[in-house]
Amino acid sequence: MAAAHQLGVDDLAELRILLADVSVVLDAREADPSVRLSVPAVDRAATATTDGRPADEVLAEQRAADGGGQHRSYLVLSAEERARGYVRPVRMSYVHVVPKVLGTLRPLTPEELARHAAYGYVRFEEYTPEMRAERGGTVVGRFYTQAELDRVQRGCGARTTMGRAIAETYARDPSFYGSTFCSGCGAHHPVGPPPRGEFVWDDGSYVGT
Ligand SMILES: [Zn+2]
Repeated sequence: MAAAHQLGVDDLAELRILLADVSVVLDAREADPSVRLSVPAVDRAATATTDGRPADEVLAEQRAADGGGQHRSYLVLSAEERARGYVRPVRMSYVHVVPKVLGTLRPLTPEELARHAAYGYVRFEEYTPEMRAERGGTVVGRFYTQAELDRVQRGCGARTTMGRAIAETYARDPSFYGSTFCSGCGAHHPVGPPPRGEFVWDDGSYVGT
């Protein structure tokens, strides 16, 4: 007698994730037929750099630059690794969409000013109940420096075009990079889903997703 296999809660959660992945890939294929449903898993150790120098040298140089300005060279997946298949279309540019202040801005209290003097904060954003719920309920707000506030209030909207090797690395492995360069700000900012990620592709999806 064959035992019936019952789907458990974990199986269902896994199925849901698989189906979500499939639908993302199918959407991507419409934009770029080179995107395939089934590609070999990415090998992140198979790296190269945009100017051909050793990865260690490039990474050390980036660390020394301390985040300021565009780097001379970037780490990418090697040409062979990129050729093993894309999970997203190859897109050559993205737009910087700075997160907006959705909560309430207030000046700092004298205690906060004293406690965080080293950081130069000028305002505190009190999150709305919805924003708190999105962040797990324990985070009540965030501090801003004047530079951060200027950036948020001015917006950015700059489009940055990248080289082919970086664009293909994003297509092969969307979460390869933790941050990316904005030609408008002249600085690197986080990628990934909002609220952390600050860059979108032309179809509105977030860079790094
Ligand atoms: Zn920018």
